Amino acid sequence: MSASTTIALYPGSFDPLTNGHLDIIERASHIFDHLIVGIGASQAKSTLFSLEERLGLLSSATKHLKHMEVAIIPGLLVDFAEQKGAQVILRGLRSETDFSYEFPMAMMNRRIGHNIETLFMATSDEYAYISSTLVKEVARLGKSVEAFVPQQVAQALQEKFK
Ligand code: ADP
Repeated sequence: MSASTTIALYPGSFDPLTNGHLDIIERASHIFDHLIVGIGASQAKSTLFSLEERLGLLSSATKHLKHMEVAIIPGLLVDFAEQKGAQVILRGLRSETDFSYEFPMAMMNRRIGHNIETLFMATSDEYAYISSTLVKEVARLGKSVEAFVPQQVAQALQEKFK
């Protein structure tokens, strides 16, 4: 057995962080030697929360975890992974729809990156239906989202839609 260190990068928009994301982060932090949760800065999507807000929420909701950090991905994902020494890109899978979206991205990243491996972690069944989009919609319509997101995020959403 080699003593090499495995660093994984879990990228996403995290707009905002949900219990589904947090579950993947917690489980991954026990598997890899080091986990970097990366917030993509260059995405075309418009977001509800600013980069700084998302960074703050992710940092506060994960401060109980060891061997991990939260970072902003300024440009291309594979370049950031290489710069950080990450051998693995980690993505969560909820459904076939996720898979169809993820698979070509994994192929492309392996081509344009230096043989970086994308690994998929299956959602826990209780979080399979949770997405940032649905959570925002429920919060926007004035319903509590405390069952779906960390408490800091629920509060931040309430503030946004006040
Ligand atoms: P992106 O905009 O890059 O898809 P997201 O923030 O929506 O980023 O999601 C980041 C990653 O987390 C993606 O791989 C997504 O499939 C996964 N993910 C999102 N919600 C869940 C969930 N409830 N359970 C497991 N994985 C999830």
